[in-house]
Amino acid sequence: MTDFIIPAPPQASVAVAGSAQRFPVRRIFCVGRNYAAHAREMGKDPDRDPPFFFTKPADAVVDNGVTVPYPPLTQDFHYEIELVVAIGKGGANIPRDAVMDHIWGATVGNDLTRRDLQLAAREQGRPWDWGKAFDQSAVIAPLVPMSRVSMLDAGRIWLAVNGKTRQEADLSQLIWSVREIITILSQSMRLEPGDLVMTGTPAGVGAVVPGDVITGGIEGLADIRTPIGPAQ
Ligand code: MN
Repeated sequence: MTDFIIPAPPQASVAVAGSAQRFPVRRIFCVGRNYAAHAREMGKDPDRDPPFFFTKPADAVVDNGVTVPYPPLTQDFHYEIELVVAIGKGGANIPRDAVMDHIWGATVGNDLTRRDLQLAAREQGRPWDWGKAFDQSAVIAPLVPMSRVSMLDAGRIWLAVNGKTRQEADLSQLIWSVREIITILSQSMRLEPGDLVMTGTPAGVGAVVPGDVITGGIEGLADIRTPIGPAQ
């Protein structure tokens, strides 16, 4: 055992459906603009340029049902419903037909975003971290163990605020499929057990305020509910 000079930080983790055990989180990779209609609403042309990625810290994870306080420094706090994939076996340069061997499970997540800070950074050519990688910015529903990656190729994905539908699409509309995302990501860095990949959000992103309740899900996979609390 390493003798640390201050107490080691707790291991970040997410819930597992139907289990008391939890999945340890190592890193969170996120795909930008992976649905054409969302790329257009963000003022960009959807195309087949290689996907780009940003990250969130592992301890940004929030369980389903937990109230998320309205974060500091923003006046435009957005939801983004997304398919999330969990890596159970590490690897670099993973071929497309081997991707399933590396996926432990999948679920639905919410890539919470300080949109005003993200867009200001984008315009100035600065990193997205202050818009994307803040405390409690990655809501992750309980992970569902996967038996087939093809289960992630289609299915309704949706999000509602206070019961009113705001995002509705199908996983078949992903510009880059789960197989392609994992293959391309693993060419840049070695994926490791505990890594999560948030695969991008469909059109319809928008703001929430304290008191709102966000619900969402992916048909046949998982549901999520997140109340937004007052600023702390
Ligand atoms: Mn996103």
